[in-house]
Amino acid sequence: MDCIFCKIIAGEIPSKKIYEDEHVYAFHDINPIAPSHALVIPKKHIRNVLEIAPEDSESLLKLHQAIGHVARELGIAEDGFRVITNTNEHGQQTVFHLHYHVIGGRQLQWNM
Ligand code: AMP
Repeated sequence: MDCIFCKIIAGEIPSKKIYEDEHVYAFHDINPIAPSHALVIPKKHIRNVLEIAPEDSESLLKLHQAIGHVARELGIAEDGFRVITNTNEHGQQTVFHLHYHVIGGRQLQWNM
């Protein structure tokens, strides 16, 4: 499968890792839109939130816990941050491997 995020998880494409466990990988976005901009992804290839299956529940719990870990690691937990998952065309999803943007480090507006 030709998936850039699967290649990042496999170490075939370099990334700046923030966190990793059995189910989850987190790394800095290559094109940050704020002082802190991380991506948190399941190691399992899931296209987007429309394709989450019941058996993914443990993985996605770990992913949500990892979001908190990443926010604390980046020093943005207390001031606050935003979590976004873009989905399909209108959501402007460009990489079709489920991922959560964790964005912070400045005051965000609703239109970012
Ligand atoms: P989306 O547009 O929501 O699908 O988000 C995809 C994100 O992946 C964008 O914010 C890109 O900047 C980011 N991205 C693409 N390639 C890489 C890469 N090799 N390393 C880190 N982030 C990447």
